[in-house]
Amino acid sequence: MPEKIRKTEEEWKELLTPEQYSTLREKETEQPDSGKFYRFDGDGVYACVACGNRLFRSDTKFDSGSGWPSFWAAVSDDALETAPQLATLGERTEVTCARCGGHLGHVFDDGPKPTGLRYCINSVSLDFVPAGETTEGKATPEKTAAG
Ligand code: FE
Repeated sequence: MPEKIRKTEEEWKELLTPEQYSTLREKETEQPDSGKFYRFDGDGVYACVACGNRLFRSDTKFDSGSGWPSFWAAVSDDALETAPQLATLGERTEVTCARCGGHLGHVFDDGPKPTGLRYCINSVSLDFVPAGETTEGKATPEKTAAG
């Protein structure tokens, strides 16, 4: 299990941008097709922008047509937490970061095989770590611009 991160709302306000705060801590949803990762298809891993917890691999990202980055699986069973959430149009399943509790989006059961899941995630909640990049931010030389 990832070690839990707990901060006061004041601490989160200092750490996050106003847009990140309203999504991660106040569960706001970004406008469809407004986020930087919806039409992005880089090779790597998406992490929680608030705490760095690794959430989704780029090879599970798919174009759902929804306007939000969509994934059919999490990086691991313990990366995310889900909970029922009452919404205007009935009940939805909320997805939060298992480490910091930040709101990421929702999960639906109309996704593609093999899982049938569709994690519908706000771009603003995510950070992208390109494949081969380490915590020091150095890329490995195995990828070249050739081809
Ligand atoms: Fe987090």
